Amino acid sequence: MASLTQLPFDNSYARLPRELYTPVTPAPIASPSLVVTSTDCMALLGLNNEQVDDKALCRYFSGAQSLPGAQPLAQKYAGHQFGAYNPELGDGRGVLLGEVVNENGDRWDLHLKGAGKTPYSRMGDGRAVLRSSIREFLASEALFHLGVPTTRALCVITSDEPVYREKEERATTLLRVAKTHIRFGHFEHLFHSNQKPLLNQFIDYTLATHFQACTQAADPVFAMFRDIVIRTARMIAHWQASGFAHGVMNTDNFSIVGDTFDFGPYAFMDSFNPGLICNHSDYQGRYAFNKQPQIGLWNLNCLAMAFSERLSRDKLISALQEYDDAFHQHYLTLLGAKLGFSTVSEDDSQLIGDLLGMMATTGADYSRTFRSLAEIDLVSGRSRARDEFLDAETFDGWSKRYAERLQKNTSTDTQRSALMSQSNPKYILRNYLAQQAISQAEQGDFSEVRRLHKVLSTPYAEKPDMQHYAELPPDWGRHMEISCSS
Ligand code: AMP
Ligand code: MG
Repeated sequence: MASLTQLPFDNSYARLPRELYTPVTPAPIASPSLVVTSTDCMALLGLNNEQVDDKALCRYFSGAQSLPGAQPLAQKYAGHQFGAYNPELGDGRGVLLGEVVNENGDRWDLHLKGAGKTPYSRMGDGRAVLRSSIREFLASEALFHLGVPTTRALCVITSDEPVYREKEERATTLLRVAKTHIRFGHFEHLFHSNQKPLLNQFIDYTLATHFQACTQAADPVFAMFRDIVIRTARMIAHWQASGFAHGVMNTDNFSIVGDTFDFGPYAFMDSFNPGLICNHSDYQGRYAFNKQPQIGLWNLNCLAMAFSERLSRDKLISALQEYDDAFHQHYLTLLGAKLGFSTVSEDDSQLIGDLLGMMATTGADYSRTFRSLAEIDLVSGRSRARDEFLDAETFDGWSKRYAERLQKNTSTDTQRSALMSQSNPKYILRNYLAQQAISQAEQGDFSEVRRLHKVLSTPYAEKPDMQHYAELPPDWGRHMEISCSS
């Protein structure tokens, strides 16, 4: 087990040419206090919770003191924001502290968000606030426990230092742990600023460092690009199956390794609304829930442009053409598991589509409906899910078809219900739950953030004393608007 001051750093990014980053020193937040930690995220770094005391976390992850071996830097990148290219991006309020390679050889970026101004801060103050840091912490840890590829969060540290958004808030830091912080926008920056030799070097670096499995292929860069296409498709299939709306799918918020990245005004769906726009600055609904799959491909097209230096047009097109199928197959697999099918095929698409259609019409609660389908009576086709639908007769018709379909399962009934309870969470991070935890934290009480984090760490398990976390949102929590400011 490593200790915090003995973390084995190997800072490969800091060895790249300086055009790709600027060394920076984090600006500490005053009188730090620890809001919440993730012990299983600590374990990724070989850290044992027992050996890491709160004071040390506050010291190193408030920016007050530098970890031995860290080489803090701000990365330069660009990106397409809401469809328009912005060359002026980069880490404006986040700092890559360094990369830790754990005992298994896994490389983990430590990135301190809210660490002060950098050369890429533009008009910003370089800070993050308590509200947005708690939202990122809870969502990334919750997605991880739902089996969705995502960055992780190790801790949140807050302070009395005021920062100004729509109102006065508290300067806060979040330690993000991720396989890499390389975004689609890194490649776009080098391509559009015409730095071709550096782009080539950066592509080779990314391949060797993060896509080792592709290095033995006949055309390693093609294998990597193809892998990025498939990982992105699968990540978005997970979002659609989990009822997760990301909200800001700009290419600077897309990780090259296909992890969910950059948590802003996201939402976990309550009542099923395929057209949900969770970002209230998204006036045209570009990033609506049901647009996510096509935006994933749009973003990959931007990346393909940057890879056109290395790959022929035909190769790029052939990789991009795999996107739809990769998305669809993975989505079908995930939905099949949610419905308890031992195997799933194209023939099931209609049944799945009809259920989602009914859910959309009636506004059924996304996770509750799936969870309650596990208890179906195979003879009568009855289940508690019926209560979610206004038009019970139409539901009964569907339910009968569903019960018939289940008869074709090769698994036993017990196996089916086990599969369903492992595929349909009881507890999800509803916006109102996050909001309650944030409101208390803003008053200095972090207990609700910690409790909620704990509940979401085992989202599939029944917890009799935690039933209230599975309740539907109260009226005030149904249509919350989450601002982009963070
Ligand atoms: P985001 O909306 O978090 O994806 O950020 C988009 C861009 O704005 C990135 O380059 C960020 O680093 C930068 N940015 C966001 N908020 C701030 C801030 N408070 N101070 C400096 N830069 C910021
Ligand atoms: Mg971002």
